[in-house]
Amino acid sequence: MSKIFADIIINISHEALDRVFQYEVPFYLSGHIMPGTKVIVPFGRGNKEMEGYVIKLGTEANFDESKIKSIIRVSEKGVSIEGKLIKLAWWIRQTYGSTMIQALKTVLPAGEKIKQKEERYVCLKLPKEEAQKAYEEAAKKNRKAQARLLRELLEQDKIPYEIATHQLKIGRPTLSRLEELGMISIEAIMYYRNPLNLSGELLPPKKLNEEQQYVADTFAREYEEGLRKTYLLHGVTGSGKTETYMACIDAVLKEGKQAIVLIPEIALTYQTVKRFYQRFGDQVCIMHSKLSKGERYDQMMRAKNGEANIMIGPRSALFTPFENLGLIVIDEEHENSYKSESVPKYHAREVAIYRAQMEGAAVILGSATPSVESYTHALQGDYTLFKLNQRASAGSQMADVHIVDLREELKNGNRSLFSHTLYDMINDRLAKKEQIMLFLNRRGYAGFVSCRSCGEAIKCPHCDVTLTAHRGGKLVCHYCGHQIPMPKLCPQCGSPYIGTFGTGTQKVESLVQKEFPQARVLRMDMDTTRKKNSYEEILSAFSNGEADILIGTQMIVKGHDFANTTLVGILAADMSMYASDFRSSERTFQLLTQAAGRAGRGEKAGDVVIQTYNPEHYSITTAAKQDYELFYEEEIGYRKVLGYPPITQMMVIFVGCEEYDVGKAAIGMLGRELRNHFQEEEGLYVLGPTDASITKIKDVYRHVIYVKHADMDTLVRVKNHLEKYMEDKKIYEKANVTFDFNPMIGY
Ligand code: ADP
Ligand code: ZN
Ligand code: ZN
Repeated sequence: MSKIFADIIINISHEALDRVFQYEVPFYLSGHIMPGTKVIVPFGRGNKEMEGYVIKLGTEANFDESKIKSIIRVSEKGVSIEGKLIKLAWWIRQTYGSTMIQALKTVLPAGEKIKQKEERYVCLKLPKEEAQKAYEEAAKKNRKAQARLLRELLEQDKIPYEIATHQLKIGRPTLSRLEELGMISIEAIMYYRNPLNLSGELLPPKKLNEEQQYVADTFAREYEEGLRKTYLLHGVTGSGKTETYMACIDAVLKEGKQAIVLIPEIALTYQTVKRFYQRFGDQVCIMHSKLSKGERYDQMMRAKNGEANIMIGPRSALFTPFENLGLIVIDEEHENSYKSESVPKYHAREVAIYRAQMEGAAVILGSATPSVESYTHALQGDYTLFKLNQRASAGSQMADVHIVDLREELKNGNRSLFSHTLYDMINDRLAKKEQIMLFLNRRGYAGFVSCRSCGEAIKCPHCDVTLTAHRGGKLVCHYCGHQIPMPKLCPQCGSPYIGTFGTGTQKVESLVQKEFPQARVLRMDMDTTRKKNSYEEILSAFSNGEADILIGTQMIVKGHDFANTTLVGILAADMSMYASDFRSSERTFQLLTQAAGRAGRGEKAGDVVIQTYNPEHYSITTAAKQDYELFYEEEIGYRKVLGYPPITQMMVIFVGCEEYDVGKAAIGMLGRELRNHFQEEEGLYVLGPTDASITKIKDVYRHVIYVKHADMDTLVRVKNHLEKYMEDKKIYEKANVTFDFNPMIGY
């Protein structure tokens, strides 16, 4: 039997992760050791016993076998949270493809130990009666300082050090003497920065409506019975999903367990977090990208030490080091941002379900527009499906949706941005002092510049995309930031007839101002939300009625109730710009439904106007009816016919390289290896290699192969084989290869 070796890390801070030590696994321990196991090893010259974590097992020695020491034993402290996270990293590595170090850096909290703020306290160490006696004695013997301090400590058993020394004027020698006598102690108590500065009264829970109550009761009952399932909560916009999550979290806290709530970064507003804070108080901690490193670290430590029981945050909050995880909630589970864009390209939903299984926790996925994947799982019985069909707050109702055919408008000579219907409704709302939101899709509709003589669009020199016209005569690349001044002549043919096409948010803003000069307008896009709190500021300004019209590119505006918004206009609901992506219809449906859900949140009924060139497309007609089931039926039919996920599993092999030819050769080799080695594999379908649909971004040329199979396991096998194949080949040092399973983006 061959020997087994274990890669072990002694120190789990990020900086030390690259320092891996190899040890031999003694035969009698072989069944007890796997990634994540905490072991005791002899370390350094003196063979000092140290704790370490196994991150990998293998049969090959990295250096002279005779010099490799053996693991002494498995740590008797049992499985720690770090061990569990390391096991999770191992699974992520295997499932999505990455190095173990990349996976570990994903799951372990960054160890930037910056100096924590701490406060020192003087604490009473004696039982009350003895302290009373000591106080009386000190008073009798005229030890004034001592008496002052003890009297104070009899009232509150700890007082801040500064208060003791300054206000009570107790000298340091006195404090030291009392400490030596064991009457008091000086303790440093960590003070965790509270990034929200939330405080104040907790609010009692809202009385749940019948639908919400059913969900909460069923969840609580099954949880108490020890069932740990994955639930899909499909609730229309405004149906009170958040309120329902909170009731479920309550049930979990009652069992002494902890909960992670994932919310897309963009929806992680002050308003949303406040709702959790008002319900659960200091038990809540949060995570988001705008926190400083120190703040993030503090939050993670609060979670690890059990001082907080609920973590709210975006994708990365999934790796909160809770020792007693009981529930993971994923709100807006359909959102793209749950898929990591960098290696390992994991999906938070899948990792959440795996972590939950590992640690005996339940999972609740929630959405008004569930992903086709999750809904399929629910229909197959893998997830338990709950529905909320009614809006929760009294009087709030679903909006009326109007579809406008832009082709008809054109035929009737209307070339403006606003159809007659939308134009009239905007005027109507302005007159009534009600508010309006106007949305346009970010991609494809930003203004690009092209030449009327030769037809060439002006492209970024570093990326295979058109530049976008910005105010002040600048052209900007939305992929790499490259800027040039607007040229006077076409760079291709020298013709002066060049102009802007399509419409960006800035253009919409100026058109709105021209058409409706009386309206106060706010704009929200990449350019206006660059600063730390600008996103919040714009939304609260709008919600406070400081503007009549909000123009936005981000359709999903959660966490704010715009009670006075009674009209939502979608300027161009087109799908063509997502042509390279099999999820384009799904995304269109989600955006329209979420946008429509913004209207009529208050007492007043709302209208939604969808302007489109594809009025018959099912993603638009079903969104207009707010009929998710109908949409799903159409969509799953289309995926069946074309063999897309979730019916067929898909893996993208992506090669990025600064030299086109090298990249092409590198992916060519993978294509050949794949076809040769998996020739006999039934049902494996390989498309490519080919140039990606955007052939270059930031001077990196992009090549892809698509691989499909009914089973994910087969695709993972293909990935593993190719990873091995690449191991000792020089070309892959230059050409960067990544894998993306069931991608959320087009390539
Ligand atoms: P969702 O997350 O489904 O969009 P929310 O939980 O944000 O819905 O609820 C929408 C609005 O309805 C919020 O203002 C919320 O306070 C309110 N709400 C939710 N549940 C109830 C309830 N049971 N009674 C009264 N108001 C409720
Ligand atoms: Zn030209
Ligand atoms: Zn560019």
